[in-house]
Amino acid sequence: MKEIVLASGNAGKLKEFRAMLADFRVLSPKDLNISVDVEETGATFYDNALIKAKALYELCGLPTLADDSGLCVDALYGAPGVISARYNSGGDAENNKKLLADLNGKKNRAAHFACCIVYYDGSNIIASEGKTFGHIENELFGNGGFGYDPLFFSDDLNKTFGEASAEEKNSVSHRARALAELVNKLRELRVTNPKDNTR
Ligand code: IMP
Repeated sequence: MKEIVLASGNAGKLKEFRAMLADFRVLSPKDLNISVDVEETGATFYDNALIKAKALYELCGLPTLADDSGLCVDALYGAPGVISARYNSGGDAENNKKLLADLNGKKNRAAHFACCIVYYDGSNIIASEGKTFGHIENELFGNGGFGYDPLFFSDDLNKTFGEASAEEKNSVSHRARALAELVNKLRELRVTNPKDNTR
């Protein structure tokens, strides 16, 4: 089975990628006793995912996958975007506080999460993107998920991601959508197990 290394140590992400990429043996950097720690200096989610995928490839020489994601708010011209994780110092709670303050008095609360996933094998770069749409609430609802989930009201689920179960969120999330598109692209390009002629 073809091996692929995911540039993340996050157990939830690994599980999701393993479930969707059944044609591959998905490894984490930890499985190979390496760690990838690069600065995400890109201007776009694609740039950052590519930086991580390439850095990991340089370390392991195996095909790699990396993702980058964030929240984009229309009234803030797409912010916090690529700096979603470090919008404010102090983590998720502080980020949410800043987001509410920045949107104070603004009527347009439309927002989306976006995720880009990049595959890199030393020559091929395959990228996919997923988005999920909604708006930013005036206060936190629910304590599920992470990051901006309690403030993000999902148009698909009719509740915030903070109030949704993991299964509900995974059925509509930006990451799941990007991953589904990536799986299709890998199949189209036959980056699958060469012995597997069922696809
Ligand atoms: P990463 O690309 O997974 O490192 O995510 C970057 C940042 O974007 C996170 O730290 C969160 O602030 C935000 N973010 C990305 N995806 C989500 C999500 O599904 N829910 C809530 N926040 C998210």
